[in-house]
Amino acid sequence: MSILDEAAALADTGPVCDSCLGRVYADRSFGLTNAERGRSLRVAHGLETDEEPESVETADCWVCEGECARFDEWAERCAAAVEGTEFETYQVGTRAPPLVEENEALLREEVGLDPDAGELFKSEFNREVGKRVGRLTDTEVDFGRPDVQFLIDVAEDRVETTVNSAFVYGRYRKLERDIPQTEWPCRECDGSGRQGREPCDHCGGSGYLYDDSVEQYVAPIVMDLMDGTEALFHGAGREDVDALMLGTGRPFVVEVKEPRRRRIDVERLEGDVNAFADGAVEVEGLRLATYDMVERVKELDASKTYRAEVTFGGDVTAEALADALEELTGATIRQYTPQRVDHRRAALTRERTVYDASGELSDPRHATVEVHGQGGLYIKELVSGDDGRTEPSLAGLLGVDADVSALDVTAVEGESEAFEQSEFFR
Ligand SMILES: [Zn+2]
Ligand SMILES: [Zn+2]
Repeated sequence: MSILDEAAALADTGPVCDSCLGRVYADRSFGLTNAERGRSLRVAHGLETDEEPESVETADCWVCEGECARFDEWAERCAAAVEGTEFETYQVGTRAPPLVEENEALLREEVGLDPDAGELFKSEFNREVGKRVGRLTDTEVDFGRPDVQFLIDVAEDRVETTVNSAFVYGRYRKLERDIPQTEWPCRECDGSGRQGREPCDHCGGSGYLYDDSVEQYVAPIVMDLMDGTEALFHGAGREDVDALMLGTGRPFVVEVKEPRRRRIDVERLEGDVNAFADGAVEVEGLRLATYDMVERVKELDASKTYRAEVTFGGDVTAEALADALEELTGATIRQYTPQRVDHRRAALTRERTVYDASGELSDPRHATVEVHGQGGLYIKELVSGDDGRTEPSLAGLLGVDADVSALDVTAVEGESEAFEQSEFFR
């Protein structure tokens, strides 16, 4: 059977609209809508048979039951659902009515075609409504991870809208001690601040063990500016609560859920955060990032540079210190799980490299030591030796006890490449 005869046979099954007819041949020719395909098939058949081409009202179509006339209406409903929400990319999905899906298969079977010949109703719906949404909102379709996702449930007569998170990357410095990176709920009251009717005496009723956190200085400001519903703080690892984070800072991403604004002024945001944190925390290099940046800051292997204040149990000479540090530079350190580390963690011996070690004595019993080491190197134990559990160590090489009295982090950098690669920014 020729394609024209086949199309005529399809049209004879009852009133079939141009879209439903053309959709059977969606894989033929280019640059046409299915409605144009359907209409063209009728016209070509009319020319061949010298008859007037049939015209079918979409509302009368037995296959889609008139749904193919509603692309504009659904697009307008999608646009209305995100009124007041800023977005650049979107995606439209459709839940087709089961009855229409059955009719589609039936139509094709009537003339002996595969039940899934051409394309599905929902594919046309996604594309036709999608094009119109793009025009109405001046945005682009994105089949990966769009800012906004629409799910049209035709049978339920409903649009479900998902506004995906927005992300801001930056690096933070922590300039005061005893600030955890993220909120630290009190374990005695599970963050409620109460024990029965009384205020919790462990946390003083605040629900938190510390008054501030890096997260609390940064995330709410980002959330306010983006007008979202929730903000999550993702750090590239974390320093001890009593350690400062100095130098170039530690990479982080703030994720804002359901933002109504995305095109924010990051320089203004930086100023706002730094003013709010008032010297306790500073951020820099803020940039709008992609979804993938969250995994990157969490997963990318990173080296750390530390500055440790070290106290010795006996006198040390500048020469001996310099020799010991030179010995450690480039050394592979074997570390059995430190005694201070969580007892639930499995005990094992790990090997980590010291890339660089340098330092200076302030007097025979005190020094400032800088160590650039592979991620996972335990610095306090590298200095003290941890009763022989870490080998080699500064204490071991010097032959005196050595302890870290203050430890700060001055750099967190990707081992294989920098955190900041252009494909992770918007
Ligand atoms: Zn139809
Ligand atoms: Zn408490």
